[in-house]
Amino acid sequence: MLCAMESPVTREHCAALDAADPLAFARERFVLPEGVIYLDGNSLGALPRSVAPRLREAVERDWAHGLIRSWNDAGWYSAPQRAAARIARLIGAQPDQVMVADSISVNLFKLLAGAIGIQRRRDPRRTVLVAERGNFPTDVYLDASVAALYGLELVCPEPHEVRQAMTLAGDRLALVQLTHVHYRSGRIHDMPGITAQAHAQGALVIWDLAHTAGAMPVSLDALEVDFAVGCGYKYLNGGAGAPAFVYVARRWIDSFEQPLVGWHGHARPFAFEHHWEPAPGIGRLQCGTQPVLSLLALEAALEAFDGIDLDLLRAKSMAMTTLFTDLLEASPGFGTEAGLGLASPREAAARGSQVSLTHPQGYAIVQALIARGVIGDFRAPDILRFGFAPLYLSHVDVHDAALALREVVLSRAWDRPEFLARKAVT
Ligand SMILES: *Cc1c(COP(=O)(O)O)cnc(C)c1O
Repeated sequence: MLCAMESPVTREHCAALDAADPLAFARERFVLPEGVIYLDGNSLGALPRSVAPRLREAVERDWAHGLIRSWNDAGWYSAPQRAAARIARLIGAQPDQVMVADSISVNLFKLLAGAIGIQRRRDPRRTVLVAERGNFPTDVYLDASVAALYGLELVCPEPHEVRQAMTLAGDRLALVQLTHVHYRSGRIHDMPGITAQAHAQGALVIWDLAHTAGAMPVSLDALEVDFAVGCGYKYLNGGAGAPAFVYVARRWIDSFEQPLVGWHGHARPFAFEHHWEPAPGIGRLQCGTQPVLSLLALEAALEAFDGIDLDLLRAKSMAMTTLFTDLLEASPGFGTEAGLGLASPREAAARGSQVSLTHPQGYAIVQALIARGVIGDFRAPDILRFGFAPLYLSHVDVHDAALALREVVLSRAWDRPEFLARKAVT
């Protein structure tokens, strides 16, 4: 057997870690299929138990019987603010600065345009937007599109050269748009340092928290972050296509000119007035009618975070990603010999709740793992991505997943036609 070597951490030891895990109780809050170790909660969160009953009620009672009355009587109209208030705690924000609406892509457009408007009124000579090369594509596309629309100069340095690029832009720096935890590598940007530097230069920051919210604590208010967006369907477990959230610091809300002036962001939507007038407060970030069923699913899903201490969440996340890499590195074939490399920072404190590996046959390896019930994902060209959602994974899961990966790589179990053929969604 190729993988007969004893792992440094035994399964028994992992079971003991689970017995002492202060967050172990949260697993009961999720519906997870038998025989599956789910390491893709960073892409689509697992199903919280609270969601199905809420959706059944929303469809069978509120829609079927309440009909249009449910906008008022079943609280459909206020659902975005209720969901936002739950998210606010997870991102260190007072709730009156958070709104749930649309997708990250759409919200990024609103924030970029609104922030550019604010900067133009403060100092029109500020014309540089610093973003980063290799960010999640939607962010890169929107940065480029909005920069072109509004006549900004877009500067896209490598992530480790962002602060230098900011310094170079000097007092022409208007905006910085970055993602806190990188979607491929899991590398964490220095949010306090970059935010402080941007402010010292008179610029504003827009942080994308797609891989942060629900995986680790963050303190938007305390760090005086200006704007942020985040995802509803990743670590927040809102379900496929769940709406995203958007954060605008209180000090900017009144001067924030939202470019997508839909009727739900109007001060009086049901007055049906000819001219648009922004809703007071964060409500102006709304645009059109929201996907109510998705919104209610997200709201119910957020109950999984009730009473969860976010420092414990982060501690467990770091323990799990460390356990995973330790187990892999102890394997005789790990590293160059088996073609596997580590694409995440080595230090747990420098990465989010994921471990990314590289392998030329990454896609097939992930498929072979999925066939064995270990679900991760693949990001072209060669990244194997494993997310560790601390609410529903155990240390034993991590142990078994690492062993399965070792076995698939070392035995070349991935080298079969059914694992090599690419599907549409990877
Ligand atoms: C997942 C993700 C998105 C998703 O954008 P949507 O428009 O909500 O689909 C955006 N940015 C980052 C960094 C992501 O990881």
